[in-house]
Amino acid sequence: MSQIRTRIAPSPTGDPHVGTAYIALFNWCFARQQGGKFILRVEDTDQHRSTTQSEHDILNSLNWLGLTWDEGPDCGGDFGPYRQSQRSEIYRQHIDQLLDKQKVFRCFCSSERLDQIRQQQQQEKLQPGYDGHCLGLSDEEIVEKLTAGEPHVIRMTKPESGDCVFDDLLRGEVRISWSQVDMQVLIKSDDLPTYHFANVVDDHLMQISHVIRGEEWINSTPKHLLLYAYFDWQPPVFCHMPLLRNPDKSKLSKRKNPTSIGYYRAMGYLPQALANYLGMMGWSMPSGDEKFSIEEMTEAFDLTRVSLGGPIFDTEKLDWLNGKYIREDLSDAQFAERYGAWAFSSDKVAKIVPLLKQRVERFSDVAGLGGFFLSGLLDIDMDDFAHKTLDAQLQAKILQFSLWRLEQLQHWQRDNIEDTLQSLSNSLQLKIRDFLFPLFVAISGKAVSTSVIESIQILGMDICRARMRHAIAVLGGISKKQAKLLEREFRDLS
Ligand code: GLU
Repeated sequence: MSQIRTRIAPSPTGDPHVGTAYIALFNWCFARQQGGKFILRVEDTDQHRSTTQSEHDILNSLNWLGLTWDEGPDCGGDFGPYRQSQRSEIYRQHIDQLLDKQKVFRCFCSSERLDQIRQQQQQEKLQPGYDGHCLGLSDEEIVEKLTAGEPHVIRMTKPESGDCVFDDLLRGEVRISWSQVDMQVLIKSDDLPTYHFANVVDDHLMQISHVIRGEEWINSTPKHLLLYAYFDWQPPVFCHMPLLRNPDKSKLSKRKNPTSIGYYRAMGYLPQALANYLGMMGWSMPSGDEKFSIEEMTEAFDLTRVSLGGPIFDTEKLDWLNGKYIREDLSDAQFAERYGAWAFSSDKVAKIVPLLKQRVERFSDVAGLGGFFLSGLLDIDMDDFAHKTLDAQLQAKILQFSLWRLEQLQHWQRDNIEDTLQSLSNSLQLKIRDFLFPLFVAISGKAVSTSVIESIQILGMDICRARMRHAIAVLGGISKKQAKLLEREFRDLS
């Protein structure tokens, strides 16, 4: 068999997700064990949502976990560029091939028409999807529309009946009816490819032998296989991994569990422990050992032994494992060194010192005043939120709205945070002093502390999100019903 090549293909549209690291780990282990190559490809075709900050954070987090790649945008390789935004010309050439073969077609339907079909399909309880309207256009009509500069997309044709049948390495035969598959848009009206098209073209050109990815992509696989067939290409082996789940079995989501790798790093977990924990998701060592390094996992690895029951990502178990690593793997000197590097990085210290210096009289005041910079969740209770005018419910609302607003911030800078909170306080018609009160308690544990805006900036969104959610819970929480009302109110805010 030719060389084993696997890949992780993150879209840089948000925080580095533990789910990405989990899939990366299994790809990494498989490639390493088979003497193959592991590739990192950035799927940034969504121009509006992709950011260089997110790309940087994702690469940085995977590196931190030790999941290094052989080819990627930062280190190059024989099959580059490894960033899809730099491969437009390649996609253009490839879509031309499919246009020539008449496997794809130009679709000029307006968004109004598409909305109309969707509504009608919904009413008639039919499978939603494109109705094939533009398949019937004559060559003359197409030329006419193109000359007139009418915006259009390119869609793929698909079989009208029958099933798509394929083999999944973990699931065996998978059968999906073509009636459930849409005539997928491959090139958008901005001339950029969609995920489906760029992903298949790149997997082929980068000679990916095994596509190991999350189970949410199973229903897309028929489209992908169809593209391989249209190009006359040999498809890779597909392997869809079970999704990580919250303890209540729902799909892992940041509403219920911290999902950003940045959070686990900021909380002071060891990368070895987090990587080990991710390795326990659906996989177990033949020896039954729970503590293992990713190198040990690689040695014993057998992809077909991954179990399909949705693995539960449970921070309690991770805490236990991390504690074990701290006790068993770090000498006292190593503990001191690792703790120092985590707590007192020069970057963090440079930001904290000016805040503390203004307020302390002796070094012995530092821990009391600035200890919250080195903590995880704070030890607060309802009494800490006692306030002369703001009741618990209003404080929970302030925290929830602040959280939603801060999550939308593209640039995590002091001024942006301040403007965001100031404008929210105005919209809620609260005095800024009152508005900031629950934030002070949530973020620093006290009603009076160093500037809460600066503290939020220094601590970062991952820790702030966790503390604000913790504070909301301490304040009595927000029920599902209240959350719906709050969401509506939040949307209507100016
Ligand atoms: N860009 C896709 C993602 O963000 C990749 C999915 C795949 O592996 O095919 O998950």
